[in-house]
Amino acid sequence: HCPVGALRERDDVQRALDALADPDIVTVVQIAPAVRAAWGEAFGLAPEQATVARLTAALRRMGFDYIFDTTFSADLTIMEESAEFLERLKSGALRNGPMFTSCCPGWVRFLKSQYPDMTALLSSAKSPQQMFGATAKTWFAKKIGVDPKKLFCISIMPCLAKKSECDLSTMQNEDYGKDVDLVLTTREVDRMLRADQINVKNLPEEACDSPLGTGTGAGVIFGATGGVMEAALRTAYYMVTGENPPADAFRDVRGDKGWREADFDIAGTPIHVAVVSGLGNTRRLIEAMREKRVRYDFVEVMACPGGCAGGGGQPIHDGEELAYSRGSVLYGLDEVANLRFSHENPDVQALYREYLGQPLSELAETLLHTEHSGWFMPTHPDYNK
Ligand code: SF4
Repeated sequence: HCPVGALRERDDVQRALDALADPDIVTVVQIAPAVRAAWGEAFGLAPEQATVARLTAALRRMGFDYIFDTTFSADLTIMEESAEFLERLKSGALRNGPMFTSCCPGWVRFLKSQYPDMTALLSSAKSPQQMFGATAKTWFAKKIGVDPKKLFCISIMPCLAKKSECDLSTMQNEDYGKDVDLVLTTREVDRMLRADQINVKNLPEEACDSPLGTGTGAGVIFGATGGVMEAALRTAYYMVTGENPPADAFRDVRGDKGWREADFDIAGTPIHVAVVSGLGNTRRLIEAMREKRVRYDFVEVMACPGGCAGGGGQPIHDGEELAYSRGSVLYGLDEVANLRFSHENPDVQALYREYLGQPLSELAETLLHTEHSGWFMPTHPDYNK
């Protein structure tokens, strides 16, 4: 802790309470995949009790208007990112370097500031948090006939970096303002539940609202290291062959080593991938790439060791690291899910059918993708470019 209290964790609870109290605002909440593996720890709930459905019931008691699931937009991210990966594969762009995942703002910020000459390798896809907000304020706002400027999008995230991601100028739009208005961490939501004296143990489970409330097992594993890569390869395989692979065909990317590699074959095309978590491991991987000691086609990076399950906004247990055990909860949920492929998410299919057309369409590019430019520091040779 800072001895003079100059560094304090940003607390946004009051802003959420103000939005709840404003009769002119419609609150729209999204719950991130990794939150379901951790929110119940503060209440002594076992993972099978601390479901997203029980958290949904609690949030309704607190007065939020619509409760949705970020696994919906994790599936949407996979549709866009898999299509982009295949486009880079076909065009030969991967000869210049792999495609990097872009859903972790801690990692994106690290790359922009530390290796600004490499930002073109990032996927242009926004993160699931931001894709959710963009979809809520366009497609969903139209569906319920509400002016998108009256929608207040609140994310419940395992992550502190998401608070600054939603404030970036690249994550807003002239028509409706910010994709996401406010980010609450898992810890902040736990505090709100306590303050409202909600007896979460005795609440019934309630389904999320529709149509942004359905997610697949592939969306759920976004919260664990390796999950984005695995989900993307499941859908990329389908996009190339028109058939689903076995759902666990890409499980070699799982594990608790901070830097892992795997080889796969997608319809006769060999691909070499890496999954890395923790920024120390990430720096080692990038330096190895720059020195041409390794080469990959696709790389997933998560700034937090173990991925979002161990994110900085999750409950803290001194001396215990729970990222990997929470990650296994998410893999367990994927294993028993009815749908395990992002392209089979019926709400995502409806979004493309009714509004976006297809992955990487002009509208999808406008709403769901962004520019990643490097932050060249004064000491960098390209500072003035
Ligand atoms: Fe946030 Fe950490 Fe997840 Fe990155 S890995 S999105 S910094 S919680």
